Amino acid sequence: MRALPPDLVSMLSDLLWVCAPDGRSLYLSESWSKYTGKAVDALMGMAWVECIHPDDRAGARALWSGPFDGALSHRAEFRIEGVDGGFHWFRSHAMPVRDGSGAVTSWAGSSRDVQDLKEVHERLARANEVLEAHVTERTSALQEVNNQLAIAQSVAHMGSWSFNVASDEVEWSEELFRIVGLDERTAAPNYAAQEKIFAPLSWAKLTAAVGRCIELGEPYEFELELTRPNNERRTAIARGRAVRDANGAVRQLVGTLHDVTELVVARRTQEQLAERLRLATTSAGVGIWEFTLGADSLLWDRQMYSLYGLEPQPGGIEKRSVWDTSLHPGDHLRATEELRVAIAGGAPFDTSFRIVRPDGGVRHLRAAAVVIRDVDGVPLRMVGVNWDVTSERVTEMALVESKALLDLFVRHAPVAIAMFDTEMRYLQTSEQWVTDYKLTGQPLIGRSHYEVFPDIPERWKAIHQRVLAGATERCAEDPFPRASGGTVWLQWEARAWHHGDGTVGGLVFFTQDISARKYMEQLLETRKERLERSNKDLEQFAAAASHDLQEPLRAVSGCAQILQTQYKGQLDPAADALIGHIVDGASRMRALITGLLTFSRVSSHGEPFRMTDSAEVCRSALANLSASIEESGAVIEMQSLPEVQADPSQLAQVFQNLIGNALKYRSKAPPVIRISASQNDEDWVFCVQDNGIGIESVYFEKIFALFQRLHTRDEYPGTGIGLALCQKIIERHRGRIWVESNVGHGTIFFFTLPKSSGVDAR
Ligand code: ADP
Repeated sequence: MRALPPDLVSMLSDLLWVCAPDGRSLYLSESWSKYTGKAVDALMGMAWVECIHPDDRAGARALWSGPFDGALSHRAEFRIEGVDGGFHWFRSHAMPVRDGSGAVTSWAGSSRDVQDLKEVHERLARANEVLEAHVTERTSALQEVNNQLAIAQSVAHMGSWSFNVASDEVEWSEELFRIVGLDERTAAPNYAAQEKIFAPLSWAKLTAAVGRCIELGEPYEFELELTRPNNERRTAIARGRAVRDANGAVRQLVGTLHDVTELVVARRTQEQLAERLRLATTSAGVGIWEFTLGADSLLWDRQMYSLYGLEPQPGGIEKRSVWDTSLHPGDHLRATEELRVAIAGGAPFDTSFRIVRPDGGVRHLRAAAVVIRDVDGVPLRMVGVNWDVTSERVTEMALVESKALLDLFVRHAPVAIAMFDTEMRYLQTSEQWVTDYKLTGQPLIGRSHYEVFPDIPERWKAIHQRVLAGATERCAEDPFPRASGGTVWLQWEARAWHHGDGTVGGLVFFTQDISARKYMEQLLETRKERLERSNKDLEQFAAAASHDLQEPLRAVSGCAQILQTQYKGQLDPAADALIGHIVDGASRMRALITGLLTFSRVSSHGEPFRMTDSAEVCRSALANLSASIEESGAVIEMQSLPEVQADPSQLAQVFQNLIGNALKYRSKAPPVIRISASQNDEDWVFCVQDNGIGIESVYFEKIFALFQRLHTRDEYPGTGIGLALCQKIIERHRGRIWVESNVGHGTIFFFTLPKSSGVDAR
């Protein structure tokens, strides 16, 4: 081979060499010596390998040990020890030198110090590593941000998209796919394909908005409806805006689709609830208010104004003073204090108070409110309600009053009263109960009756159970043998009391010690019996006496009459007068005895009552009196008279006596006698009216007594038995008789007969 010019070679810093194919050096340039500090000759053959870094030596040797592909240039890198003992990296290039047959006879190469390059490379590699690490880190951070964005989008139900105006490329976020119900693995984001998804109106609105956004860069935001492929309807808010390039041209559209279905549903539900609440509060008369504390601003709805009787203000905005001034002076202090305590965090505001309306009307209002506070508990607002409880309060008060009244009534009732619950526990007793049952000083309320009276008989327990089952039990006279002897008579009644819902709440027991009354009744009965017995005796005596008297009287009056008729004028005038007196007296006595007999037989010899035509009876009495009527020229006016239950002959007797008296006690004017009857609920009231001499009112009662007369026999004949007899007959018929009169103007006798089938009062 041709050697390089030594000058040129010495200029080169590269290490030049020529080696045999087995690696033995055939030529080494002077630069070897310069670099290694060793003589070139010392490096010939395989000695050059000694200059190679021990770690690279094997590699260097290996280069020469394998068969070379003579067609390729050879490149290798290894470290060579310099004169200073340090190693530099050298990059070697070799070219094969061939003989005429093309066989490689040797290799000519150069090794260039690439230590600096190597270092630069290493730095670069390190920098690259750092960069790569950084990129990896940023990529993963970005990935994380993307993930977070995806999570955020999925949590917020907000998908995002971008649309490249120039390339027509569309990108959708995962959530956007989810919102429209498409699978991102199978569906490509396609703007036009959305036509199928959105409702026609929404689609029209969207395309118009997107058009304007591209054209004019106008952002948009509105609600639209879409239907997922599975037919699920969703509501979403579409937002979009334009991204411009440096020239201001619209390059891209970006936007979001926010699935607000749940929010819309919640909003509609809330609106419905608010509407329902408004309807409920309005129809229930509930007013709603909101008080902002710092601003002293009170917000009232219309119902509040109507509750307070005030004219609604625009917006319902008031100061708190509107409430304060409406408060009733009697409740002002308490209500404002309760409000203060509620704001301070004490008791909740749940109270009632009175207000005075501008027209002076007082209403009772119930109020309840919640205090809204910030995170630190500072009160910000109060939201509350008011409603009118006047009628409840009035009812409540009436209830309290009636309870107080009931308590008072029960406590002081002059009978023994006890109220029990269904367990027979005392609820209330009258003082009389406590006294009657000797319970003074014992606490009763809440205790069981059976505990108070452990020996109560089963009979009473059974009565209590029947009453608690709804029955009413009573007894007018119940004898209770006293342990101490004697008997207590009780009148009692037990009945259930009911709750407002109709269920039995317990029982009320009324008892009255009627022993005293019973004693009086028994006494009265004994006396009555005795009286009746003596009356009967008397009647029997009167009947017997008058009957027995008639016989001797008849003898006396018969003899006297014989004397009068047969011996008149034969004796002296005085004797005639005496005989006249005897006849007179005897006939008067007969009249008296007959009258007395009739009187005494009213009860004992009366006929049973029967339906009697009183007009007919009256007519028979008038017939008996026809002579007197004729003689006196009396005018009789008989009006229609009813049918009554009566003893006809006794009723005739009454008419006859009354009409007879009317004829007898006539004035100078011809008598006018009116007989009539009227009725009230229970009785027929008969009247016998005359225009006679009349009776002074002082005698109105006296005249009904036996033998009572107001005139001498000379003035008017009579026995004084007539009216007494009438009274006895009427009383037997359970009626009454009385008189009204004006002296000189006439008299009216009234008597009544019961309408109901009469019972003999004997
Ligand atoms: P007598 O007619 O036999 O005296 P009465 O018992 O019928 O007895 O009447 C009692 C008294 O009542 C009469 O004496 C008479 O003074 C008075 N008297 C009764 N009926 C009338 C009458 N129609 N007008 C005025 N006085 C009467």
